[in-house]
Amino acid sequence: MARQERLVVVGGVAAGMSAASSARRLRPEMEVVVLERDAYISYGACSLPYYISDDIKDVKSLFALTPDVAEKERGIQVRTRHEVVAIDNARKEVVVHDLEREKEARLLYDKLVLATGGSPIAPVLPGIDLQHIFTIRTIGDGMAIKTYASEERPKRAVIVGGGYIGMEMSEALRKRGLEVTVIEKMDRVLGTMDTEITDIVEGKLAAEEVELHKETSVEGFEGDKGVVRRVITDRGSFDTDLVLLAVGVRPNTKLAQGAGVELGARGAIAVDEHLRTNVPEIFAAGDCAETLHLVTCKKVYIPLGTTANKQGRIAGENVAGLESVFEGVVGSAVTKIFALEVARTGLTAVEAKGEGCEFFTSTIEGWSRSRAYPAGKPITVTYVVEKGSGRLLGAQMVGEEGVAHRIDTLAAALYAGMTVEDVARLDLAYAPPFASVWDPILIAANMALKKLKNGS
Ligand SMILES: Cc1cc2nc3c(=O)[nH]c(=O)nc-3n(C[C@H](O)[C@H](O)[C@H](O)COP(=O)(O)OP(=O)(O)OC[C@H]3O[C@@H](n4cnc5c(N)ncnc54)[C@H](O)[C@@H]3O)c2cc1C
Repeated sequence: MARQERLVVVGGVAAGMSAASSARRLRPEMEVVVLERDAYISYGACSLPYYISDDIKDVKSLFALTPDVAEKERGIQVRTRHEVVAIDNARKEVVVHDLEREKEARLLYDKLVLATGGSPIAPVLPGIDLQHIFTIRTIGDGMAIKTYASEERPKRAVIVGGGYIGMEMSEALRKRGLEVTVIEKMDRVLGTMDTEITDIVEGKLAAEEVELHKETSVEGFEGDKGVVRRVITDRGSFDTDLVLLAVGVRPNTKLAQGAGVELGARGAIAVDEHLRTNVPEIFAAGDCAETLHLVTCKKVYIPLGTTANKQGRIAGENVAGLESVFEGVVGSAVTKIFALEVARTGLTAVEAKGEGCEFFTSTIEGWSRSRAYPAGKPITVTYVVEKGSGRLLGAQMVGEEGVAHRIDTLAAALYAGMTVEDVARLDLAYAPPFASVWDPILIAANMALKKLKNGS
């Protein structure tokens, strides 16, 4: 009897489980095996800061699927604590290390999806191995930080890195009553976002008593009895009981490289619009893979959960025989920093400059609701606009209300390649509790249009 066709998926979080689910849904006759080296699958790492802050109490609510449910309801075989250590693409086999039984075995595949994700960057610095220096990526990382914070009640935390994870974690740790210091190498938090937005975020950090040290580089860590006690920087040292390293993510590609899979943007796995790699029958999706930026038309590495889920689904559809396309991203992201919603889509001015674009920026302050309706909040909107054509290249927003969903309108505008004139004509919904007649999106577009007409 012929062997059942088999899909093997390496990695069982966002991209991996999405790929496994869509392939199995479309081809129920296909055997689908997910190999995951960790003990857990299918969870929302994005919720970890809120689990650590205790806004989310029960870790179980972070899981979308358990191995049992995946098997019973979706017919997906999940093997946790199984690490794929090599791919033999000539024989179409993966070499799997069973981490519990310390055994190695080979498994044939017809199709292989690499969903190996990314790992937090841990800089090679003196003292990096001291206890209570954490990174945050997996559910295990989240549980370790929460257990330490609850059981040993540390008083001070130093967060290395002022990106969105560093910012979300500064709020989480402040909520737990820790004194928080953020060390950031650049001249602003949130890296590539523009100062019109980051100045407001930095003001909020100060109001929430988060100590921020910019243009400061960490040089090492000092400890006592194996436990971290100080962070050493080029601008002095900081006493601490907990260090969180949040300096970025790199794609996990060692396995792929061993199989001759080519790498692309920022060392992530190179894929085409069908999520195929250069090796026949091998697909890649999620934080291990690159994607196309629809504004610059260049390959980029923007590791986000939203993309991982979509790429995973498309990879699974193509495994099942469709010709589905993942077109790319426009660089949208949103984060909550204390009471602030901070969002971006497309290019920031810093990025547009890096791309050599001819552009101007336009910033306005609008209001989240009708001025007459109580409890509205200011929203700052910045547009990055191509000179001459008036094409919208990007938008950023910050405010205490109504930012997160407004940015989606602008993400759609970017996807459609709209000019600021097009945006100014959009038929946006209005009622006093939700917006003003002239929504901040429209006010910003009109302001940008005026600048464009004045030859900005
Ligand atoms: C604190 C935090 C907050 C975040 N917030 C947001 C947010 O608000 N919005 C957003 O869009 N994104 C957010 N993200 C990013 C999002 O979580 C990731 O983009 C997403 O988890 C990527 O999914 P993935 O499946 O590609 O990779 P991963 O989640 O990294 O999963 C890959 C899995 O592959 C396994 N694996 C790797 N190699 C092997 C191997 N050789 N054999 C077997 N298994 C292997 C790993 O153990 C891992 O479990 C956040 C991330 C963090 C850490």
